Formats: sequence, structure tokens, C-alpha cells
Amino acid sequence: MNRYLGNKNTKEFHDLNNETIGCQIAKIKDRVYFSSPQQAKQAGYDPCAHCLSGSKR
Ligand SMILES: [Zn+2]
Repeated sequence: MNRYLGNKNTKEFHDLNNETIGCQIAKIKDRVYFSSPQQAKQAGYDPCAHCLSGSKR
């Protein structure tokens, strides 16, 4: 399951199960999907500060 959405333009990725208004998911045009944060990071993407701040668990 591809829960994580990467923005090819900004090289940022989001957690779709935890998306916020600040993510502006609807504005992302060039999308790539990942099944885990590890996979996204290995592809060179940075976690979104809004939905993947890392403060939860
Ligand atoms: Zn986000």
C-alpha cells in the first residue's frame, strides 16, 4: 500500500494518513508514491514538516 506521497518538484514526501491543510496535497502535480518513509528517504525525499514532523512516536 502506498501511503506516502512524494512531490517530485519539491522532493518532499507526505503521510497521506496524517495529511494537514499545510501539506497542500491537492496542489501536488508531479506525484510519486512510496510504501514507507525509509523508501522515500532513500529516494532522496525529505519528510514534510506538517504531517511527518517526527514528534509522534
Ligand atoms: Zn505533509
